[in-house]
Amino acid sequence: MTAKKPARARTLRRAAQNDVRKLGQKLDRLEVELPGGSPARPVAVASASVVEVRARAERCLACEGELIIRAHEAERGAPAGHGQLRRVDLACASCRRPRSLWLRIEPPVAN
Ligand SMILES: [Zn+2]
Repeated sequence: MTAKKPARARTLRRAAQNDVRKLGQKLDRLEVELPGGSPARPVAVASASVVEVRARAERCLACEGELIIRAHEAERGAPAGHGQLRRVDLACASCRRPRSLWLRIEPPVAN
């Protein structure tokens, strides 16, 4: 049995930090492909009042932590009312990872 050399520990730590950064970048790319991950893939909700409820139901992709709502914006240039696009900016309560979720308000069509 030999004692660990500090240089080896430093190398391992650097490699681990590198891996974490690369995984973060991979998560960023995958996030865009998820429902609500981009303006092109909004999550449909029935009314404006459920936008934040729906956004809070998401979990952090990195650590499954709870998400805190930072901002809730109506996307500029989007038509008001039916089909209005909303963007909710979230941050993980545990690891602080930011996340944005796009939702479209699609009220059920009245008969
Ligand atoms: Zn997290």
